[in-house]
Amino acid sequence: MKINSNFLNLKDSYLFSTVGRKTAEYKEAHPDKKVIRLSIGDVTRPLAPAVIEAMHRAVDDMSRKETFKGYGPDRYCYGYEVLIDSVKRSYARKGVSLESSEVFISDGAKSDLGNILDLFAQENTVLVPDPVYPVYVDTNIMAGRKILFADATAENGFLPMPDFKVDADLIYLCSPNNPTGAAYTREQLAEWVRYAREKNAVLLYDAAYEYFITDPALARSVYQIEGAKECAIEFCSYSKTAGFTGVRCGYTVVPHALVREGTPLNKLWARRQSTKFNGVSYITQMGAAAVFTEEGEKQIAENLGYYRENAKIIADCLDELGIFYTGGKNSPYIWMKCPYNMDSWTFFDFLLEKANVVGTPGSGFGKNGEGFFRLTAFGTREDTAEACSRLKTVLKK
Ligand code: PLP
Repeated sequence: MKINSNFLNLKDSYLFSTVGRKTAEYKEAHPDKKVIRLSIGDVTRPLAPAVIEAMHRAVDDMSRKETFKGYGPDRYCYGYEVLIDSVKRSYARKGVSLESSEVFISDGAKSDLGNILDLFAQENTVLVPDPVYPVYVDTNIMAGRKILFADATAENGFLPMPDFKVDADLIYLCSPNNPTGAAYTREQLAEWVRYAREKNAVLLYDAAYEYFITDPALARSVYQIEGAKECAIEFCSYSKTAGFTGVRCGYTVVPHALVREGTPLNKLWARRQSTKFNGVSYITQMGAAAVFTEEGEKQIAENLGYYRENAKIIADCLDELGIFYTGGKNSPYIWMKCPYNMDSWTFFDFLLEKANVVGTPGSGFGKNGEGFFRLTAFGTREDTAEACSRLKTVLKK
């Protein structure tokens, strides 16, 4: 028996454990100080009432033999039609028409981002922006794939563009981006679509934060770009859109038009899912189906507005301090340059000790993250405002 030795090539993930350990040590040594965490990538607002009501109704359905549900419908890889229809309607509002069999319900974007790799041969070359959400890199290291990096830097606004001299087969794009908060315009995405089509490559487009976009110049879905259905798979999530990080639900779109080596990838994904996945719970799916109703959308808009206002408070604070940053406008993340040329961890220690504020060091997301720092808008209003006032005090000095 041999293990998958690719796992031994993974770097230990120190980022969030070190942030947690340093914060805990500081709190223990200074029990009188209130430490504020602007490092969290998790939501804090409760679920929308429409979602809660739908889930209660679904629990009741499970209690009666007439309405009890077992495994979900086979036809759409266990996704209920009412949920798939609501996803299609949300796409239709973006001008994108989808067939029901192109929408796959999942337990979140992270699982599908990892699982999708079952469809691709090991010898494919992968292109990943740096810095980025670490899942793309680690899942490909586990599979033993060659990984190339596309530099995301202050010079390109943390939005790397394709280099047609580089040959890649699988390209990850995340927009609005975690951690940089930067979001591609439609023109920029059109260039990536052109690249993927020319190289016969596949774009793996992570749209987990699309509901934070307010600027109409930015794409909400890669399928708003002509030709994308022939070269892109899109991963979406209710996590940040509707506070589902603990409920677990997402959806992945694999268009029928996406065909490689004569095989529609939709067919492969349907086969993969029906073999290795038994669907998302009925109660969860009914809750998710309430998100894109008129009432649900109004209610999630309130929560999104709350986080957006937090982001604005942080962005205004950095503007006042004259500190360079990206994000904060169409994203819950604010990616700031560490002042006084501090490296990411030095700034982390500085902020923790002087302002009792915790953020996430950018170097944990890739080499180009060094010298940058991620703050998030997912905290409470009071904490966000208090953290900003402390930032102003210590950084003005
Ligand atoms: N994609 C990105 C870019 C994320 O930042 C996250 C979570 O933080 C996910 C996907 C995971 O989403 P989910 O909770 O749906 O698995």
